[in-house]
Amino acid sequence: RAKTQGRGQFCFFDEAMDRQATERRQLELELRQTIEDRALQVQYQPLACLETGQVNGFEALVRWNHPEQGYIGPDVFIPIAEESGLINELGDFVLETVIREAASWVPPLRVAINLSPVQFRNKNLITKINKLLEETKLDPGRLELEITEGVLIHDTKTALSTLESLRNLGIRIAMDDFGTGYSSLSYFRMFPFDKVKIDQSFVRDMIQNPQSLAIVQAVIGLGKGLGLSVVGEGVETEEQLAALRDEGCSMVQGFHISRPQPIEYFASVIKRSKVFTENQSGNDSQNS
Ligand code: C2E
Ligand code: MG
Ligand code: MG
Ligand code: MG
Repeated sequence: RAKTQGRGQFCFFDEAMDRQATERRQLELELRQTIEDRALQVQYQPLACLETGQVNGFEALVRWNHPEQGYIGPDVFIPIAEESGLINELGDFVLETVIREAASWVPPLRVAINLSPVQFRNKNLITKINKLLEETKLDPGRLELEITEGVLIHDTKTALSTLESLRNLGIRIAMDDFGTGYSSLSYFRMFPFDKVKIDQSFVRDMIQNPQSLAIVQAVIGLGKGLGLSVVGEGVETEEQLAALRDEGCSMVQGFHISRPQPIEYFASVIKRSKVFTENQSGNDSQNS
């Protein structure tokens, strides 16, 4: 069939695919180097409690500032890392950077880290995380791992036993982007998650779209019934915030509260223990 469409066209597709493959290989090589140089960055986005308005933690989001192409989003380079096997090194970098960073925050501030299903299948994951917790003395209860249903689809039994091991360390587990992909209610019966995050696509149009609103309400009801904390993701307006509050959502995250930022931006919130100790040694009463 391709032949009848003419040679020219056939070649055109061929070349376009070739170019794409070359670009991707190039990006992969650059990503490999960037990970090796430890030159990826991590930004942090606050999660706020709807009732008190208080920030009670941050989600860590990896960033790649490419020297020529500028900012490349994780939606682009995480899949490349997953397919090329770089995700384990990338994930290690994030785990090390973020757990060390969070260990200096004032308790009970929590940190959430996204885990790729590929990382999750790595036999060393638990040992690695445990080592970092021991090294940094971060209370495991202040570490939260965000997984998507992708983790549970394949080899559910192994995935569940990994989740249980993490939980036994005292780490909290959140179900991310719930309502998209292959979300199944039975996951909640298989594993006692601590948190469920409503995917931002539902929050985005819950005001205009009754279907989205119904789904948001259902997930909040589900979370409540199961005793989980429920996060509305991608909150961009006061209206969405108010609607989530009305529906009884427990926590919110989104540009309306804050965009992801380098950790320095939140210096006053996290009150790094270093600064705290310096002040303390100078004059105790100034801290209270
Ligand atoms: P996610 O875990 O669902 O993270 C939330 C995404 O929504 C982030 O995009 C965040 O910047 C964005 N976001 C937050 N609030 C708003 C809002 O109000 N409006 C809009 N339009 N977007 C908002 P980001 O940083 O581009 O990350 C995309 C995805 O990449 C993440 O989705 C997560 O699945 C993955 N990812 C990010 N960092 C890591 C990482 O360190 N490891 C792994 N494995 N995956 C990561
Ligand atoms: Mg997440
Ligand atoms: Mg999400
Ligand atoms: Mg997402």
